[in-house]
Amino acid sequence: MPRVNEHHLAIKGSYLFSDIAKRVKAFGEANPSAKLIRLGIGDVTRPLAPAIVRAMQDAVAEMGRAETFRGYPPETGFTFLTELIAAHDYAPRGVNLTPEEIFISDGGKTDSANIGEIFAPECVIAVVDPVYPVYVDSNVMAGRAGRATENGRYERIVYLPATAENGFNPALPDRHVDLIYLCYPNNPTGAVLGQDALKRWVDYARREGALILYDAAYESYIRDPAIPRTIYEIEGAQEVAIELRSFSKTAGFTGVRCAYTVVPKACMGRSAAGEAVSLHALWFRRQSTKFNGVSYIIQKGAAAAYSPEGQKQVRESVDFYLENARIIREGVAGTGLAVYGGTNAPYIWVRTPRGLGSWDLFDKLLNEAHVVSTPGAGFGPSGEGYLRLTAFGSREQTVEAVERIKTRIRL
Ligand code: PLP
Repeated sequence: MPRVNEHHLAIKGSYLFSDIAKRVKAFGEANPSAKLIRLGIGDVTRPLAPAIVRAMQDAVAEMGRAETFRGYPPETGFTFLTELIAAHDYAPRGVNLTPEEIFISDGGKTDSANIGEIFAPECVIAVVDPVYPVYVDSNVMAGRAGRATENGRYERIVYLPATAENGFNPALPDRHVDLIYLCYPNNPTGAVLGQDALKRWVDYARREGALILYDAAYESYIRDPAIPRTIYEIEGAQEVAIELRSFSKTAGFTGVRCAYTVVPKACMGRSAAGEAVSLHALWFRRQSTKFNGVSYIIQKGAAAAYSPEGQKQVRESVDFYLENARIIREGVAGTGLAVYGGTNAPYIWVRTPRGLGSWDLFDKLLNEAHVVSTPGAGFGPSGEGYLRLTAFGSREQTVEAVERIKTRIRL
C-alpha cells in the first residue's frame, strides 16, 4: 500500500453541513407536514440570463460545424473574455490590467485552493475568523497549518477575529505573516471594507513583504459607490495582491463553472536565495501544467454577461437577491436581534441573543419557524454567537421565512 499524504489526515472533519443535514432530517421525520424553508445555502436559485443561454447555444452550434469546431481552449482563457474583463471590471475603476494578467478558470474555489501551490510550505498564513473554510483546509493539505488545537484552530495559522466589536474589520496581525486571505464582501459576515480599511491592508502588506489573496467573489453586490470593487483601486496593490473573482454569484454560474484570477505582473515572491520571482510566471506555469482551460461554450456564456443585454439581465438578478437581503435584514432586525451585513452583500449575519449559542439559535429557527440557517460557529471560533442567513432563495420563500421568524420565534 502506498503511503498517503499525511497532511490530508490533519484536516479536522467539517461536520457543519452534515450536522445541519442530520438535524434537518430528524426534524423532517418528526414533523412530516412541516414546510421547511432553506436560508442556509450559498447557492443561487435564479436561472441563467437569456443573453447567456443564447450565447452558449450559439457556441454549441459552432462546435458542431467543421468550419467552426475548436479543440483545447488556451489554458489561461480566450482573449475575447480576458479583454472584456479588463475593459469592464477594471478600466472603469481606473485600474489598468493587461488581458494576460487575467487567468480564466473553472471556479473561485479551485483557484483559492490551488494558488497556495506557488508558495513555500514555510509561509505563514493569516485568515479572518470566521472564514470561508477552503482557505484553511487547502493550507492544511499543503502542510502549512500545523496541528489542530483544542480551540478549533491550527497552530501555525494566524487567526484574525472579526466580530461586531471591531466592526468585522480585524486588527492587523501582531507578527509577521506571508500570505493574508481577505474576502470582501465577506462570506459569511456580509461585511465590506471601505477605501481606508482596505488601504490599511495594502500598506501592511507592502511594509511586511506579505501578499494578499483578495477574494472578491461577491463584488457585484456592492452598490455603494464609495466602496472599492477591487483591491487594485488602492494605490500600490498591484505589487502585493492577487484578486480572485467568479461568475458564480454574479451571473448564476454555480452550476456552469467559470471564474478568474488576476495575478499582476508586478507581483513578486522570492526564492530561498532571496531573488525576486514573478508570481505571474509561476501561476502561468502552474496553470498550463495542470489545467487545460475552460470550455469555449462556457467562456462564450461568460462573455455574454458583458453585452449590454447581458449586463442588464445579470444586474437584475443581483438586484433581486439584494432585495431579498433587505427583506431579511429589516425583518429580522424587527424582532430585536442584532443584524449585520445584507447591504452590498448577499449574506446576513445575525447575533444570537445573550445566553444562546449558534446552534441554539439554529435549532430555534428550525423548530419554531421551520427555517434552515447556518450556525456561525461552523465558520470558525469567532463565528460562535452568530448565525448566517442567505439571500439566494425565491422571493416567496424569503418573505415567508421572515414572516415566520417575526411571528413564531420567542426570544
Ligand atoms: N469564494 C467565496 C468567498 C465563496 O463564498 C465561494 C462560494 O460560495 C467561492 C469563492 C466559490 O466560487 P466558485 O463557485 O467560483 O467556485
